[in-house]
Amino acid sequence: MNIPNEVISQIVSQVMANLQPQQEKKSTPLIPGVFSNVNQAVEAAKYAYLQLRTLSMAKREELIQAMREAAFANARELAEIAVRETGMGRVSDKILKNQLAARKTPGTEDLKTESWTGDDGLTLVEMGAYGVIGAITPTTNPSETIICNGIGMIAAGNSVVFSPHPTAKETSFLTLKILNEAIVAAGGPANLLTMVAEPSIEAANEMMRHPGIIMLVATGGPGVVKAVLSSGKKAIGAGAGNPPVIVDETADIPKAARDIIAGCSFDNNLPCIAEKECIVVGSVADELITHMRRSGAYLIKGKEIDDLLKVVMTEKEEKIAEGCTVKPKKSYGINKAWVGKDAQIILKAIGIDVPSDVRAVICEVEEDHPFVVEELMMPILPIVQVKNIDAAIALGVKVEHGNRHTAIMHSKNVDNLTRFARAVQTTIFVKNGPSYAGIGVGGEGYNTFTIAGPTGEGLTSARTFTRQRRCVLVDGFKIV
Ligand code: NAD
Repeated sequence: MNIPNEVISQIVSQVMANLQPQQEKKSTPLIPGVFSNVNQAVEAAKYAYLQLRTLSMAKREELIQAMREAAFANARELAEIAVRETGMGRVSDKILKNQLAARKTPGTEDLKTESWTGDDGLTLVEMGAYGVIGAITPTTNPSETIICNGIGMIAAGNSVVFSPHPTAKETSFLTLKILNEAIVAAGGPANLLTMVAEPSIEAANEMMRHPGIIMLVATGGPGVVKAVLSSGKKAIGAGAGNPPVIVDETADIPKAARDIIAGCSFDNNLPCIAEKECIVVGSVADELITHMRRSGAYLIKGKEIDDLLKVVMTEKEEKIAEGCTVKPKKSYGINKAWVGKDAQIILKAIGIDVPSDVRAVICEVEEDHPFVVEELMMPILPIVQVKNIDAAIALGVKVEHGNRHTAIMHSKNVDNLTRFARAVQTTIFVKNGPSYAGIGVGGEGYNTFTIAGPTGEGLTSARTFTRQRRCVLVDGFKIV
């Protein structure tokens, strides 16, 4: 029996209307994709996911293209609002990050089917959608993570409820509005990307517990990674890093200096992959510092370093029992007010005036200095001199803290490069380039802003957000 296409469309619309939960029918988004509570955001995303399932793969790719174009066209506006709202980063670099996410995040082409044929027929393993994904995003990369996760997760056939950092809510609203409007204009469902109007830790927890959320993806620090991994749901954790960069005596020193300053000052060191401490073999340390100063770095020394520590870090003293003669241990945390600030503003706080083309502050310190140990996310690069490559590798591994996130090395000695890469075991290892080459800027390969070290998915893309589904046809479709 041949059923006309219009009749099929009517049946599909009727089924979809019946599937649409009562709650969602009543709620209209405040801004495209933004709802007043978690339940509404999840139900609207669920309905959008069911609609997405009815569309062809070609149509899905059209929606992805529309998202790319809209994100690219609005890269500047998104960068400006992010810097204004969060008070972090550089507009020019955030424009590049938004453009990068729009252009180089893989789409539906990332989904690959595996097949086996043989005497018993044909078996396929396809990459299917999960359903509604809950994605928690950081304040340090607010729009670019939504663009990147949005493209990858929709390409994989899912819809997404975002839980952004509260300090980036306006940026997140605008990103969702731009992407949702582009999807609808291209003939896709409304609300494929949703969030709540008042993001908070409580709302994030409610979203994680919601039975409509099938999978969780957290991009942020250790707290949120632990939270999603304790949720009892399928979870991907993209956590903190503290990337060391090693320079050995065989490196092209002027180039290494340029690359390190470019990487560590990119978006004022907000990216989790950015160089956070430099370990240099002593014989080339002075030359490296000289070239870093020529590449936009300002060197501070002695008391200036102590003054800066007091400004950008908070000090805690261990509590010890009364009468105890043991000296209490000091520990340091970052003063969040200084995260992602311009080097010029940071230096001003310790009474040093520099022109705005100074992109980074550098200083020579001991290996256990708090600037080395903590993930600062500020354009401050501590430099530690070591006697040889063995000491450099040992220290690089130590200060990476087992995050297995990112490491960088400048060397022409293949054995040294290989030894550090093997020892540090990071998800990204960049040789002879700035850290951002590892996410597709001036380096080959696709882009992501969600690098899943703790859970091992690595540089996430559409395929990461799929379920493997096997379909077996017995005794057929074997033509040889
Ligand atoms: P953050 O950990 O403070 O916040 C990240 C997100 O998690 C926010 O949306 C926040 O509201 C939420 N959150 C935090 N604790 C939570 C909890 N207990 N329960 C539920 N939600 C919680 O980090 P941030 O300052 O926004 O971002 C910077 C951190 O993220 C750095 O440590 C950086 O290295 C890391 N990061 C990692 C990647 C990666 O791909 N691996 C990418 C970007 C940033």
